[in-house]
Amino acid sequence: MEPVKVLNYINSHWVQSTADTYLDVVNPATTDILAKTPLSPAQDVNGAVEAAQRAFLTWRKTPPVERVQYLFKLKVKLDEHFEDLARTITMECGKTLDEARGEMKRAVENVEVATGIPQLMMGYNSEDIARGIDEMMIRQPVGVTAIIAPFNFPGMIPFWFLPYAVACGNTVIVKPSERVPLTMQKVFQILDEIGFPPGVVNMVNGGKESVDAILDHPYIRAVSFVGSTPVARYIYRRAAENGKRAQCQGGAKNPILVLPDADMDMTTRIVADSAFGCAGQRCLAASLVITVGDADRTFTESIADAAMERVVGYGLESGVQMGPVITRQSKDRIENIIGLGNSEGAELLVDGRNAQIKGYEQGHFVRPTVIRGLSPDSDIARTEIFGPVLGLMHVKTVDEAIHLINSGTYGNMACLFTSSGAAARKFRNEADAGNIGINIGVAAPMAFFPFSGWKESFFGDLHGQGLDAIEFFTQKKVVIERWPKEWSRQF
Ligand code: NAD
Repeated sequence: MEPVKVLNYINSHWVQSTADTYLDVVNPATTDILAKTPLSPAQDVNGAVEAAQRAFLTWRKTPPVERVQYLFKLKVKLDEHFEDLARTITMECGKTLDEARGEMKRAVENVEVATGIPQLMMGYNSEDIARGIDEMMIRQPVGVTAIIAPFNFPGMIPFWFLPYAVACGNTVIVKPSERVPLTMQKVFQILDEIGFPPGVVNMVNGGKESVDAILDHPYIRAVSFVGSTPVARYIYRRAAENGKRAQCQGGAKNPILVLPDADMDMTTRIVADSAFGCAGQRCLAASLVITVGDADRTFTESIADAAMERVVGYGLESGVQMGPVITRQSKDRIENIIGLGNSEGAELLVDGRNAQIKGYEQGHFVRPTVIRGLSPDSDIARTEIFGPVLGLMHVKTVDEAIHLINSGTYGNMACLFTSSGAAARKFRNEADAGNIGINIGVAAPMAFFPFSGWKESFFGDLHGQGLDAIEFFTQKKVVIERWPKEWSRQF
């Protein structure tokens, strides 16, 4: 049977793209072709933007308390379709079903938080800033907004933005990753059932051409992007040139500092989950462990065991702890980097290359890999690998370790494992990263906190989620009023 063509959703209608080119959506474990994604041209984006701009004129005047009624319905429907959405994530993206469930929980959490918009988007005022004059700040929506998403969280990442954008009175165009469009197809079926007014939520599937059309369209006022650093930088620059506000979350190389006084069993378990969970394809995956003092000996042994014991396979099967990476090209790239590390003089403690998974011999599997003795300047110590590969380094002092962490170009997350409050306090204060974990391996902020990447991991000033989202999706208007007494009828 011919794989289905993924559709766009514009003005409350499912429409076929006018694209000439389609990309296969491949299950990375089985390599079955699940569907075909259109690489939509500018004309499809323009149609969506026109619908969104028309809808904006009415939606912005719909009271926030009415707007959030759609989100309450969305929350209920997402819960009802939870398992189906999680299975779809596993099939198109490869992570285990439990990981996919965790992802969907995070998506729903953002919907829940955004239902508080009537209060969250309140302004403030001052009476009598001068005699008989009052001043107020009100928040208004910005207009048509666009969300450009990566492959690794097909269900969650659009929800870092969409609920806040619409609740604040904006209209939205979602551009999912062309490699994993199916979860958003299902989410938009739900949005369709809920019955948002036509044009409030739209979806265009595609790649670079669709993104460029978004970046250049004058009606689009705000762009939320999550993906790799080179693309984040490009999008930030082009959006700014066109006068749009942009928040662009990029790549990462997350270091974990392990001190000798850490609880080693707990540390190993948590770090292994961080490094190998989602096959290392999390922007908050542990990528480097820096040990201090004796931690080198104890941690190295236990993490190597944990890497070897991890059960790798198809994420829909029970007992599987780690799935494949997204594409054959990713697998080849990751295996090349592992080889490069070896040739740069690092020691391959656990080598996950050439994985053979019974029943899924063609799948894009790389087993957990641990490499010891990286030199701080080596490519493998600096490059985002985005696979289940953990590098180990050793230094003598905490200061040295913090210096090493801060010399990295990324700043998405840094974590510390210790039982010392003083070390934790120092680390929290001095580590240059936007998300800090203390005895936590994936410091993913809850929906009511901002997702705070720094340095090359983020371009912009307002992050996704939390109060930053309200700031990003509203523009402030200040009103100064005088109402002279003599103009009023006397009562
Ligand atoms: P990617 O940058 O290849 O793609 C992301 C989006 O950008 C996709 O929708 C894609 O269609 C579009 N795109 C790709 N190339 C483009 C180009 N040249 N011009 C315009 N648009 C383009 O990222 P990916 O491989 O899908 O996702 C993995 C990356 O995302 C990793 O680097 C990971 O660290 C990062 N990520 C970051 C966060 C975060 O919060 N900082 C979260 C998740 C993923």
